[in-house]
Amino acid sequence: MLPGTVSTFRRRCGKLNCRCAAGEPHESPALVFTEGGRTKTVTLAGAEVAEVEAAVARYAQARAELEQQAVAGIAALRASRAFRTWMSVGCPGVIRSRLVGFSSGWVGPGLRRRP
Ligand SMILES: [Zn+2]
Repeated sequence: MLPGTVSTFRRRCGKLNCRCAAGEPHESPALVFTEGGRTKTVTLAGAEVAEVEAAVARYAQARAELEQQAVAGIAALRASRAFRTWMSVGCPGVIRSRLVGFSSGWVGPGLRRRP
């Protein structure tokens, strides 16, 4: 998989008798991505474009799924916190005594206890 986006750069090479001087710029596909906080570019051969675009799509998909899991993790953390708060201050003693075992083993979906 690959991060970033595939885009096409258009430029003039500077030669006076080149077709680009007459207004038809050279086009080169490139992968543009961020590395260490900086924007980087890798120019691509025409034959690489389809494969690179597919790899970019795979990365975007994987990242979206990871992001979804992270959001679920936050929700689980908040839910577990709300539950613990309720257990300690808001829950009637009779119910608390029955829930204690459940509560101590429950850390929320997606979260694991440290060994
Ligand atoms: Zn040119």
